[in-house]
Amino acid sequence: MAGKTSIEWTDATWNPVRGCSRVSKGCDNCYAERIATRFSGLGLAFQGFAKQVQGMPHWIGKVELLRHKLDQPMRLRGNQRIFVNSMSDLFHERLVDHEIDEVFWQMALSSRHTFQVLTKRPLRMREYVRRLTNRRSDSGRPLHELLRIMWQSPRRNVHLGVSVEDEQTAAARIPLLRKTPATGRWVSYEPALGPVNWERWLPGIDWVVCGGESGPHARPMQPEWARAARDACKEAGVPFFFKQWGDWAPNRAGTLVHKGKKKAGRNLDGRNYNEFPNGDEGNDS
Ligand code: SF4
Repeated sequence: MAGKTSIEWTDATWNPVRGCSRVSKGCDNCYAERIATRFSGLGLAFQGFAKQVQGMPHWIGKVELLRHKLDQPMRLRGNQRIFVNSMSDLFHERLVDHEIDEVFWQMALSSRHTFQVLTKRPLRMREYVRRLTNRRSDSGRPLHELLRIMWQSPRRNVHLGVSVEDEQTAAARIPLLRKTPATGRWVSYEPALGPVNWERWLPGIDWVVCGGESGPHARPMQPEWARAARDACKEAGVPFFFKQWGDWAPNRAGTLVHKGKKKAGRNLDGRNYNEFPNGDEGNDS
């Protein structure tokens, strides 16, 4: 089944793609690469996808569509938020368009769920979605039908997003996201590794998630970066979700200290921010 998850902004994860490779410094401490390396032994799920190199986790570069996982969302009850490929990137260059089509068909046909797609490869995403209007699927089905189903679904259920970690990656990725045909666009600012000039990038964006890094070698997020994202979202009327401080958080005196993810929590200036697109609000836990 699609996996239960502790990720605060979603209900379930669905991983129809296995394997990835790094694209920017936001990938340096990739959680998926670490887990894949841990399960890369003989006969394990990630054998041939990742390995230890000088004691550090490394993707090998193999990426595969897992067809036996494609129908998992159909079997999930209710209306769930589903994070697509928490362990990979749907727009990885090793996947061919027809493989991505298969994932999109599942999302379009499971319209009671909301799918949260997140990529660090927004150029491929933009080109892929643009080409849907005049391509046919492997079986000859016109793909503009897929767009019609997705865009006419009352829930407008496929939300396309990019990960950014600083101004440089925001400037490279958000303009491409804005030019991608979509009914919901969002940005994950995690791990936040540098400040972002949000006023420039929020037009056309429907949701921002913000978080610091956790896990081995976690790099600290400065509180002013998170506050700047929150304040710009408030000003622009964009829902803001503060996911976590990560391993580092300010103490009472305002100094950043290494607390560990659990202790650091997700309280920003006295409250939790759990806003979602479409006016939904998560539990203020
Ligand atoms: S794109 Fe995502 S899954 Fe792939 S290496 Fe980077 S952080 Fe990891």
